[in-house]
Amino acid sequence: MKYAEKSPELWQAINQEELRQEDTIELIASENIVSDVVREAQGSVLTNKYAEGYPGKRYYGGCQYIDQVEQLAIDYAKQLFDAKFANVQPHSGSQANMTVYQALLQPGDVILGMGMDAGGHLTHGAKVNFSGKNYQSYSYELDPETQLLNFDQIRMQAHEIKPKLIIAGASAYSRIIDWQKFREIADEVGAYLMVDMAHIAGLVATGAHPSPLPYADVVTTTTHKTLRGPRGGMILTNDAEIAKKINSALFPGIQGGPLEHVIAAKAQAFYEDLQPQFTAYIDQVVKNAKAMEEVFVASDAIDLISGGTDNHLLILDLTKTGVTGKQAQQLLDEVNITTNKEAIPNDPRSPFITSGLRIGTPAVTSRGFKEEDVQEVACLIIAVLTHPEDAEVMEQVRAAVKALTAKHQI
Ligand code: PLP
Repeated sequence: MKYAEKSPELWQAINQEELRQEDTIELIASENIVSDVVREAQGSVLTNKYAEGYPGKRYYGGCQYIDQVEQLAIDYAKQLFDAKFANVQPHSGSQANMTVYQALLQPGDVILGMGMDAGGHLTHGAKVNFSGKNYQSYSYELDPETQLLNFDQIRMQAHEIKPKLIIAGASAYSRIIDWQKFREIADEVGAYLMVDMAHIAGLVATGAHPSPLPYADVVTTTTHKTLRGPRGGMILTNDAEIAKKINSALFPGIQGGPLEHVIAAKAQAFYEDLQPQFTAYIDQVVKNAKAMEEVFVASDAIDLISGGTDNHLLILDLTKTGVTGKQAQQLLDEVNITTNKEAIPNDPRSPFITSGLRIGTPAVTSRGFKEEDVQEVACLIIAVLTHPEDAEVMEQVRAAVKALTAKHQI
């Protein structure tokens, strides 16, 4: 099939997206830039193959090489996280979480996860999501003083509502999470503990964040954030009984044929993640976030939720600037800095407007930004958000962004 004609409109859009990525400073904390070989694996002939089932137990013929590919992804994942079981088939992080709920819960069971204002994910029990519709969901928030997890509060809540599942992990929390404290609370109330480490999985893989594997009954993650792999999900556990339940909850429970081309790309990414260069990369991701923290802390214009960061991201509280999260995201888009608006704890504004902004260093670090570069970016962000109507400032920032993206080409 070598002679198919390319859709001009489609390829124009794809090429323009490639240019956009080259010309913008990508600070969305959940995004990254994968290697050429990860893309090659994802674009491989494996996309042609059906392989319902698991390695060695397929419902289709011709799976001998597919089995090798999926087994490699499983083995690399187990090695990377020191886990006994890995399921690499979830199409996304949300489906990984859905699988765990299907495996361990009945509809209507009580679950306790982090609220979205506090930094939790939709699938941790938000009322608009399946997790809040199919289960009786409660959320824990951050301590209003420290803007950190408050384990006394979480313990009290857990004793009161008696959840069957406690969910730890976040989409927007900039501090180290104490998995052991969650384990203790789960044990006190007889709950399962699921850790969703989607954001910090790369840090866990290299030891820059403590691993949840020794504490959680089950760990879910995406593969496309700090792990720097293709878009997708994964589930890990050390418990053989839970592993069995997970496998059948995923297939035939909620998915059909696995995306083996994506699984091949996951295997390639995990292989890269096992190399010493990946540890150096994650160390730089964390150093870069700390370097940005320094600039924001020194400025009077913008506060940081919890006062700073221990990981790859920062949550900016824009209250003092008078600019909303939505406006900030738009203003920064205009100067080719990509971010996303973010609710801050007890945000007086709606989730569509918000008073905060989430920024992260994984993508810029992949293209070679070092501390001095990200500190310049932090200064540019402050300049834009404190001069939202100053065309001259916007022009100067645009020029500085152009110079930085030219200096560090993808
Ligand atoms: N879990 C967390 C903590 C996330 O931040 C995200 C995505 O942002 C997900 C799950 C869902 O992943 P996906 O977008 O692949 O469904």
